[in-house]
Amino acid sequence: MIDLHLHLDGSLPPALVRELAQGQHFPLPGNLEAALRAPQDCRNLNEYLERFDLPLALLQTADALERAAYALCTELQAQGLDYAEVRFAPQLHTREGLTQRQAVEAVCKGVARSGFPAPAILCCMRGADEPLNRETIATAAAYQGRGVCACDLAGAEALYPTSQYRELFAYARSLGVPYTIHAGEAAGPESIWAALEMGASRIGHGVRAREDPALVKELAQRQIPLELCFTSNVQTKAVASPADFPLREYLAQGVCCTVNTDNTTVSGTNLREEYKKLALSPEEIKTVNRNAQKARFQKEGDV
Ligand SMILES: [Zn+2]
Repeated sequence: MIDLHLHLDGSLPPALVRELAQGQHFPLPGNLEAALRAPQDCRNLNEYLERFDLPLALLQTADALERAAYALCTELQAQGLDYAEVRFAPQLHTREGLTQRQAVEAVCKGVARSGFPAPAILCCMRGADEPLNRETIATAAAYQGRGVCACDLAGAEALYPTSQYRELFAYARSLGVPYTIHAGEAAGPESIWAALEMGASRIGHGVRAREDPALVKELAQRQIPLELCFTSNVQTKAVASPADFPLREYLAQGVCCTVNTDNTTVSGTNLREEYKKLALSPEEIKTVNRNAQKARFQKEGDV
């Protein structure tokens, strides 16, 4: 089992949140579960994103990041996963003086200590100052193959169109860093088209591709993997209803679909649970994992 779309800050085991808060003398809300986990039916994406406030506040030291990466990887291993790509935005962990590089080193250290294969994807943020995003790309290049496997663009897709980040990803290309881009989640097909034009090797979500049949054809033809995340998309209303999730429709059209969790804690799920919710047959589970195996940034046998 492979998870290619998994955010570190949205996937902290609640027991670790308690430990970190205790160590940092950070007051926890009475209802920790409600503070960390988004409702099944969010009013909007913002209500979902509020659940990242507490984890982010706790992940501002190298020690906390190292422990978070270790705890998550240990959990993934216990769940029977074989490989994962864990993403986070180093620039969101610099409030207390860490540099982006120090944040990345801390996460890589935690992953390495776990022994679980989980190279990091470094997220640039929509709406962030350009130098911060360029620093993320440069950091990805510096650690490429040494704990980092790619970069990404995350954040408010509806407010900051993908096409605004052309130059940023041209820079990534110039440094030889591969990338996925969150697209077609809060915005429509134009966002996915832009990500493709900008050279994204995969699309984060891409769930709204179906609004443009020509785009679905293009994705199938070029075998661009989609990192689909069912529960998260239902919660944020990227799909109208669970029945509206287009996994089977895309598979039938030959699109390279993968199934991922996005945020195990914020979405209250895990990979097996996602397979169950989607009622995947053993054959379909094989297919999405075969696709993930093809789509992974760090190929088997690479360091
Ligand atoms: Zn995501």
